[in-house]
Amino acid sequence: MGPLLSVEEALARVLEHARPGPSEEVPIGAAAGRRLAAPAPARTDLPPFPSSAMDGYAVRSADTPGVLPVAFRIAAGRTSPLALAPGSCAAISTGAVVPDGADAVVPLERVRIEGELVEIDEPVVPGAHIRVPGGDVRVGEPILGAGSLLGPAQIGALAAAGIASVSCHVRPRVAVVATGSELQQPGRPLELGQIYESNSWLLAAALAEAGAVVERLPVVSDEEDAHRAAIARGLDHDVLVTTGGVSVGPHDLVRAVERELGVEEVFWGVAVKPGKPLSFGVRGTTLVFGLPGNPVSALVGAVLFVRPALEAVQGAPAPSPRYEHGVLATALTPSVERDELVRARRVSRGDETVLEPISGQESHMIVRAAAADALVHVPRGDRELAVGARVRYIPLA
Ligand code: AMP
Ligand code: MG
Repeated sequence: MGPLLSVEEALARVLEHARPGPSEEVPIGAAAGRRLAAPAPARTDLPPFPSSAMDGYAVRSADTPGVLPVAFRIAAGRTSPLALAPGSCAAISTGAVVPDGADAVVPLERVRIEGELVEIDEPVVPGAHIRVPGGDVRVGEPILGAGSLLGPAQIGALAAAGIASVSCHVRPRVAVVATGSELQQPGRPLELGQIYESNSWLLAAALAEAGAVVERLPVVSDEEDAHRAAIARGLDHDVLVTTGGVSVGPHDLVRAVERELGVEEVFWGVAVKPGKPLSFGVRGTTLVFGLPGNPVSALVGAVLFVRPALEAVQGAPAPSPRYEHGVLATALTPSVERDELVRARRVSRGDETVLEPISGQESHMIVRAAAADALVHVPRGDRELAVGARVRYIPLA
């Protein structure tokens, strides 16, 4: 392995190759979690008409204070055939069209009703409780820019502005190939020497969360032919993620077989613990990640590199792991050579997130790691991080 790239350099190299994919039209009912490929312009002013913000009475403000007869009533969804004549008022419900002539609404709670007469004691300012047309957005204005992530508020905004479908970058098709002759499928009995295959399941979950359409290909043994067939199939996808077989052992075949199949390696080896022997390459527009076999290493590689790449191909403007800040509950000694991602539990203390490293930090200990909900980033260096030191972490759950 040559000189190790820093985590930042490695991510930058990955992102140089992770270009947004093509776009497709997506109905808003299926667009949650997707990103816009193009700005979405409003199809209407919102509100589309001057509408009442309250149940009450539409008035001419100049007639207040005063006692006004109710000329007519307007419910939401109805239009009033009449303009409001001076010296009268109109009963109006929330969301109804304010009639011509009226310039304010007096809420029900602020009036006294005597038969068909409405008594208003206080003067009302023009515009009170009227929602102006276009006050939220004007027709033709972009509601959201390209790259916007569509969550509940954004989906609601699109619907409110009359947009039934939007252009989104297609979700990347990702193939996951686990390698290793020792791997047995969960649910089957274990023979001596076997362990259960966990990485493909872990990765399928991690990458689906980032919007990928994941296909788990059959697990392959440490034989060249098996590798060749699976990797060739995986290369038909937008992204291929392998695990295992990417280190320096005699059975580590992934890189050699990929080279033979036309993958151009961009780098191999990152200064990160766990996860050092990670490889990245491209074939055409397919991104090819070789994650190490230890399950925690595979998780770290997915979080640091594969997920940001998946965000990038879906048009995210600044793809990166989502770093947050907290303070350490215990002192940590950094590694001199490699940034470390320490599994920890988050505890809220006042406004602060306190990070408690879990016991069992070895890269095969996926069950210990499952008790963690944070990956604390400990930059390489030679100075101990004291209790209370401020650090970045990536939330896991
Ligand atoms: P490798 O990178 O292939 O040398 O694998 C490193 C370690 O991770 C070995 O102990 C493997 O048995 C283990 N390992 C590799 N792939 C998987 C997998 N898919 N699930 C669980 N453990 C794995
Ligand atoms: Mg292996």
